[in-house]
Amino acid sequence: LEDMLAVIKPDTQHKEEILEEIRGRGFTISRLKDTVLSREMAEEFYREHRDKPFFSQLINHGLFLRSGPCTMMVLTKDNMLEEWRASMGPTDPSEARQAAPGSLRACFAKEILETAVHGSSNTQHTHQKIQFLFRDISTE
Ligand code: ATP
Ligand code: MG
Repeated sequence: LEDMLAVIKPDTQHKEEILEEIRGRGFTISRLKDTVLSREMAEEFYREHRDKPFFSQLINHGLFLRSGPCTMMVLTKDNMLEEWRASMGPTDPSEARQAAPGSLRACFAKEILETAVHGSSNTQHTHQKIQFLFRDISTE
């Protein structure tokens, strides 16, 4: 079993449906916390994208600042990385609707900057992001 840091982004109005989907697909939600990210936290959160041409759009688009809390989750399942990738579908929602019609992004994402869900792309990111997002309550 592997852990994964996953996020329901504030660009979606379908948090409860997405949570139901996640549980229905056999992921265990071991931690869950709603957090409004500041700009600084958003930049830290997406730091691996800081050299990408779309970085400022990703931050400035206001997903984190304007539209309410992110739902941060630690998910657990066998073969977690591949399973979550498959559940999310491709990054671009129009591609998701073509290539993976049952995926979360096909159902809930609007456009490339409003992709509804996020998942850490490797074990190192998972540990960094869990430490970063849950540090205030991971004192035990
Ligand atoms: P995430 O990391 O959010 O789970 P992902 O791994 O499918 O998504 P990444 O390549 O890591 O895709 O991109 C991170 C986020 O940056 C995406 O969710 C999307 O909103 C945005 N993004 C990715 N590619 C582009 C692009 N070409 N133009 C604009 N925004 C993009
Ligand atoms: Mg990614």
